[in-house]
Amino acid sequence: VKTTEQPIFAKELKRETYQMVINGKSTQAKSGEMATVYNPATGEVIAEVPKANLEDVDLAVEAAREAFDNGKWKRYPVGKRARVLNNIASIMRERFHQLVEMEVMNSGKTISAAQGQVMQAIEDFEFYAGAIVGHCGTVNNVPGQFFNYTQKEPIGVAAQIIPWNYPMMMAAWKVAPAIATGCSIVLKPASFTPITAILLAEICTEAGVPEGVVNVVTGPGATIGTYLTEHKGIDKVAFTGETNTGKDIMAKASETLKRVTLELGGKSPNIVFPDADLEAAVNGSVFGIFYNTGQSCEARSRLFIHEDMYDEFMESFLDKTRKLVVDDPMSEKSHVGAIISKQQLDKIHRYVEGAKEEGATVVTGGHPLKVEGFAEGYWYAPTVITNVTNDMKIAQEEVFGPVVVVMTFTDEKEVIQLANDTKYGLAAAIWAKDQGLIKRVSDRIQAGVVMVNCPFSAFPGTPFGGYKQSGFGRELGIETLDLYTETKSVLSYA
Ligand code: NAD
Repeated sequence: VKTTEQPIFAKELKRETYQMVINGKSTQAKSGEMATVYNPATGEVIAEVPKANLEDVDLAVEAAREAFDNGKWKRYPVGKRARVLNNIASIMRERFHQLVEMEVMNSGKTISAAQGQVMQAIEDFEFYAGAIVGHCGTVNNVPGQFFNYTQKEPIGVAAQIIPWNYPMMMAAWKVAPAIATGCSIVLKPASFTPITAILLAEICTEAGVPEGVVNVVTGPGATIGTYLTEHKGIDKVAFTGETNTGKDIMAKASETLKRVTLELGGKSPNIVFPDADLEAAVNGSVFGIFYNTGQSCEARSRLFIHEDMYDEFMESFLDKTRKLVVDDPMSEKSHVGAIISKQQLDKIHRYVEGAKEEGATVVTGGHPLKVEGFAEGYWYAPTVITNVTNDMKIAQEEVFGPVVVVMTFTDEKEVIQLANDTKYGLAAAIWAKDQGLIKRVSDRIQAGVVMVNCPFSAFPGTPFGGYKQSGFGRELGIETLDLYTETKSVLSYA
């Protein structure tokens, strides 16, 4: 892709129009068509982004392909590539507050959630800058007359398709390990939340990533996401989103045997045993479901409480849930932000109404909210549902909102069986003191992440990903680098 335009840099973060980044340049859609981006807390239009068509995708893939094939980035000495990743992190640090503000405006999440997520995005680049330096092949034991070594080579061009719930963090989870290995990428953010992905691509250019290595296309998943998945110029698809979309992507990618990693949905259990520290368990359980307005893949949306402590736990859990502040996402005092869209708000409410029809009881919440000063935004009350059995729809399907179902159990074996009785296997939390029990339950839980007396599910360096229909492959860990590389074995006569 030839162009004489100058690269644009992300110094002015707040704009009326954002363009795609193709070949290191700010690029309009060929059709000139634009899509509107809203602030879900206010319902206001905040910007426009291009609505790419297939021709735009071709250009982005071509740019990525050329950047990969010319070999400039992948042949940088590894220390130099690491330095560029650290430059990206430094620029993000300088613009931390503006990036946070953009993330809040575009997603409706609270400022405290956005601060943590943008900081994690920065630390992802720092982590992979370090990790790539030690990502080496091996020299292997072979009979005397032979010599064998392996080397890790970047896979090629990766299509990276991400959801709307953690726009900046998901972009970083994808981009950092891919470019660390020397791959080129075409990143497709969710239609609701394209802004920070575009800003990240601009920052990459500014930090010294050669043109064409990081490209961003914006537009509908059903058309341009599908096209990327099937594109002959793409070697790997890394996808985060719903399980059904992941299945579709896997089927389509099989045609060209693309490498695929899938980070999909969850319905994670949160198990409170009778010897748990009550206060820590209650606080962790409130955080576990209501953080990010419940719009988290790792949301602990099925709460299992041991019968012996049910009354005591619920009194405190409900009290703290009712005191959650659902308000202006830019206020440090807000605990719960807005729902991403009207469609999502309606979907959440349908799940809650359906649970009532199935015989469950809504103990608190269970309805959309009007927030003063934000009348046009999308809000839902933090909701706790009891009288639930694990076979109900509300206990089996991902609601993706501030809604938790509560069930009781009497013994370890029973709760392990209930916890695993789901098609998902992303995360699980255990609150207990007995180390033997913690080890037994952790061993038997079918989930990629187990949180023990800990509300947090991931940091840079801790692998994150699912069992069962929550997907496969891991992000954030050292092993993620293997998912962007092929191992070549070189065998010779010594
Ligand atoms: P989604 O599957 O609707 O969309 C995700 C992305 O895929 C978007 O960019 C979308 O435009 C694109 N897309 C849609 N249809 C496509 C298709 N047919 N082919 C290719 N791309 C397509 O998911 P969402 O609603 O944006 O996000 C919420 C989901 O993401 C939840 O299920 C949540 O659990 C999951 N999630 C998982 C993780 C994880 O790490 N496991 C992290 C965050 C979110």
